[in-house]
Amino acid sequence: MDFNNVPTPSYIIDEKKLKDNLTILKDVREKAGCHILLAQKAFSAFCEYPLIKEYLSGATASGLFEARLGHEEMGLENHVFSPAYKPDEIEEIADICDHVIFNSFAQLGKYGKIVADIHKDQESRSKSANEPSYTGIGLRINPECSTQEDAIYDPCAKGSRLGITLSAFEKGLEEYGDVFKYVDGLHFHTLCEQNSDDLETTLKAVEEKFGKYLSLPQIKWLNMGGGHHITRADYDIEKLIGCVKSIKEKYNVEVYLEPGEAIALNAGYLVTEVLDIVDNDLKILVLDASAACHMPDVLEMPYRPPLRDSGKPDEKKYTYRLSSCTCLAGDIIGDYSFDKEIHVGDRLIFEDMAIYSMVKNNTFNGMCLPSICAMDEKGDVRLIKKFGYEDFKMRLS
Ligand SMILES: *Cc1c(COP(=O)(O)O)cnc(C)c1O
Repeated sequence: MDFNNVPTPSYIIDEKKLKDNLTILKDVREKAGCHILLAQKAFSAFCEYPLIKEYLSGATASGLFEARLGHEEMGLENHVFSPAYKPDEIEEIADICDHVIFNSFAQLGKYGKIVADIHKDQESRSKSANEPSYTGIGLRINPECSTQEDAIYDPCAKGSRLGITLSAFEKGLEEYGDVFKYVDGLHFHTLCEQNSDDLETTLKAVEEKFGKYLSLPQIKWLNMGGGHHITRADYDIEKLIGCVKSIKEKYNVEVYLEPGEAIALNAGYLVTEVLDIVDNDLKILVLDASAACHMPDVLEMPYRPPLRDSGKPDEKKYTYRLSSCTCLAGDIIGDYSFDKEIHVGDRLIFEDMAIYSMVKNNTFNGMCLPSICAMDEKGDVRLIKKFGYEDFKMRLS
């Protein structure tokens, strides 16, 4: 199959691009001597986990379900962070996750011992003398260092629930001093689509505020979260490697990075077909893909997705507004221009559609979920999964 005969709409994962990204990340892993995990919330296409596991250290999760997916389909290092855990899921989480990261001292107080006991039990069962002895319990800190403008993507914004501020950390130590002994790592996540100069700035704030805790002998690892746009062309990889190495040496810790976007950046497409053309001041294409259902970040971020062989409005001869079959008037992907007139039945290809797409889509208006396809290095496309009415009905009752 190729792009002309996949069912529409379809996401197509570009395995060559994915491999190119993974090659860069593996190189960083080796040169910096750090662990790199797939943040599954950005990209959970587990049909590609056998490929990904050849390059990365493992996966990280936002909760039990992603943790299970990483455990079942990747089977390497498995980590989890959630702002809060539920009592009925913590044992399973502890059982399948090497690192469990808490967002507050209260959560540590509630679950720290349970997780530590389960991890200790596993260690004595596995009896692997070479494995370092550790509890695999971390606290997420908030260095209160904003390096981005957009509050919606900034865990350091005023009033953020994400991470423990220094003052809360000091108060927590007083109140929960007895369970702090279970903690053997710290975690921060403050970046979004950023370069390594912002990581450098953030690390200065982390050291200034939390350096004394990082220096404690019980602290064995530092997780620097995601948002590192490592595979973007202008990313300064050497600076990243320098940052990681200097922290490793100074504090004698293992370093973890958990990018999501960087793993599948520009490694996917959404193929859609033009179903109708409506004329109302301008020509509006009605597509079988929807911003609201299939690329929600277009409306949430908001941003203009790249579209193959197109230009900005009026840049090329024929300009159209791209829209969909939902009832939402604002379900508009954007205005694009083309060299050739567009006809009903034509196919359009949106680019950079692997990340935050399949993991976020929905069936609003009873729209069908796009099929998932993969394209190998030769350009051959195969269908991985097709969805239908049952997938819509299954989520309702
Ligand atoms: C979102 C998130 C990531 C991944 O972020 P990307 O921007 O996709 O690289 C990693 N860790 C945590 C805790 C996150 O919330």
